Amino acid sequence: MIPFVDLKTQYLSIKDEIDTAVLKVLDSTQFILGSEVAALEAEFANYSQASFGIALNTGTSALHLALLAAGIGAGDEVITIPMTFVATTAAICYTGATPVFVDIDPVTYTIDVTQIEQAITGRTKAILPVHLYGQSADMDPILEIARRHNLVVIEDAAQAHGAEYKGRRVGSIGDIGCFSFYPGKNLGAYGEGGMAVTNNPEYDQTMRMLRDWGQEKRYHHVLKGYNYRMDGIQGAILRVKMRYIEAWTEARIACAANYNELLAESGLGLPSALPHNRHVYHIYAVRSPQRDALQQSLQAHDIQTGIHYPIPVHLQKSYSELGHKVGDFPHSEAVANEVLSLPMYPELPIESQTQVAKAIISSIR
Ligand SMILES: *Cc1c(COP(=O)(O)O)cnc(C)c1O
Repeated sequence: MIPFVDLKTQYLSIKDEIDTAVLKVLDSTQFILGSEVAALEAEFANYSQASFGIALNTGTSALHLALLAAGIGAGDEVITIPMTFVATTAAICYTGATPVFVDIDPVTYTIDVTQIEQAITGRTKAILPVHLYGQSADMDPILEIARRHNLVVIEDAAQAHGAEYKGRRVGSIGDIGCFSFYPGKNLGAYGEGGMAVTNNPEYDQTMRMLRDWGQEKRYHHVLKGYNYRMDGIQGAILRVKMRYIEAWTEARIACAANYNELLAESGLGLPSALPHNRHVYHIYAVRSPQRDALQQSLQAHDIQTGIHYPIPVHLQKSYSELGHKVGDFPHSEAVANEVLSLPMYPELPIESQTQVAKAIISSIR
């Protein structure tokens, strides 16, 4: 069987360091926040070329607090894409604001920057691009539009640790960047985790207070806050994994290059990484009008695949109140119907990739 991801192999490759780090936290009893989490904040902010990192319990919390720190709430509109994980939209709704969708670019699957301006109204407060699958959105035009309309830019970088746009790391290009450390993400905790990064000291202070009940100091609650703190054990685990993130990212990029070569003649749509981007391949998705048949055929070869995502958010029942229908965002809908995510993780053996490619080519014939 070729799994879609393999967390066990990675754990075994760093088991001694992880086990030692976890035991150290148990011994210190710094179970929530604490010195390991503080050190992780500094290290991950530095990795993302940002001044500040605020460690949180999930990536969803990072999005929620980023929006709150930017002053977004009821009556405001936030522009984002419907072709994303539901958390992007959910976080906007948590604040009371309304998500306003813009379709994706059919080549990169990130926000179509040519459609942003027509979605801006007097209520628009922020643009929330998603670096889908690990490739940066086209940030320069987004920043330029934001500057002209006085909007905040919040990056959903949950799938894009270490991704770059024109030589700059994502997360620190806009006003606030939001990362997830869900176990299957490119940098994954052994439980839930997330982080917001920013260069703005005010946003940093606000998010730091909001994650811990809005306290300025103990029991002095100056804001209505949340319990969004990171566990000490997750901080320690993530610090160990930070030592390997670059090697793992390079391994993902090499896997993608190998798939590109193996599948060049397959007739499938392959991922398009723009030359000015460092795509970190959280997901390697191929595209085919016969996607479901292809998935079944790979399943029959004992090859696990995924679909990210089969239903765009504007067609989800939970967001029917937004009033959208089939046809509103045609590129998002086409991608949702046609993409198939192939096995992708840093330790994926080259022979497995060859097997995947062979199975794909034989099923297409
Ligand atoms: C994973 C993910 C999130 C949410 O992160 P959690 O840590 O699971 O809360 C948000 N946006 C995108 C695009 C994601 O992939």
